[in-house]
Order: sequence, then structure tokens, then C-alpha cells
Amino acid sequence: MSLNIVPRTRFADEVVRSVCPYCAVGCGLLVFVEKGRITNIEGDPESPISQGCLCPKGCATFELVTGSHRERKVLYRKPRATEWQTLPLETAMDMVAERLKKTRDENWDAENRRTMSMAHLGGATLDNEENYLIKKLFTALGIVQIENQARI
Ligand code: SF4
Repeated sequence: MSLNIVPRTRFADEVVRSVCPYCAVGCGLLVFVEKGRITNIEGDPESPISQGCLCPKGCATFELVTGSHRERKVLYRKPRATEWQTLPLETAMDMVAERLKKTRDENWDAENRRTMSMAHLGGATLDNEENYLIKKLFTALGIVQIENQARI
């Protein structure tokens, strides 16, 4: 009896090397692409960091990018509202910037040239370059509580 089973990676047009986005370990990934769509993601055996291994989070990166439950729009819930509404990304970014400036202006400590009214908590998936820019931006804004989830 022969089973007509083939791996779903067999028909990939290309295999792209990448890095798991979930934590600072940086395990290597192989991303299989067929007709412009990701068909599989697995550990890269040639990665000197992980040698083909992935933890359960890393194994789930295929679902991270392809899952139907992934939110692809900005969702906003007004204070005391019970329903979410979608917003254009540009509108949401403007709202964040306006609130940040208002909070900073209203709570500026001129003597110490800082504000204690805000803090920043970065996610563990941020890379070195993103963390560098976040530290620069928030320090320039006078915010002193700048932390990263990876250190908690
Ligand atoms: S596979 Fe796991 S250990 Fe490796 S980078 Fe991703 S989250 Fe971190």
C-alpha cells in the first residue's frame, strides 16, 4: 500500500531565512513561500543560535502570520463604550500623538526637565534597533520610566 502523502514544503517557490519575532533569543526560521503565500514556517537547521529548534511560541509563527483570528485593523473602544470601532491607522496614530503631547504639556516638570506622567513598556519582540529608537524618542520627550517586557 502506498500513501500519496507529500510535505507541504515540497512545492515552495522559495525559502526565505528569517528570525523568530517572539523573543531576544533570535531563533532562525525557514519561511516557505508558494505563489506569494506563506505555506510553512519551521526552524532553520543552519542557525548557529537554535540549530533547527523552536520553542512552542516559535513553532506558532505560521499561525501568527496566517491565522484568521489575527487583527488587521485598528480597533478603538471609546471610554464607557461597549462596542469596538475600526479606525484608519493614520487617525489612530494622530490620537496617540495628541494624547501624548497633551499629557506631557499638562504634567511637565520644568525644574527637572522631565515628566513623571507617562511610562513606556516595550514588548519582547522588539529588536535592538527598535529599542534604540524607542529609548531615544521617549528620553527626548522627558519620560524617565522606560522598560522592556523582556526584563520583567
Ligand atoms: S523560538 Fe522561542 S526561544 Fe526562539 S526566538 Fe522564538 S520565542 Fe524565543
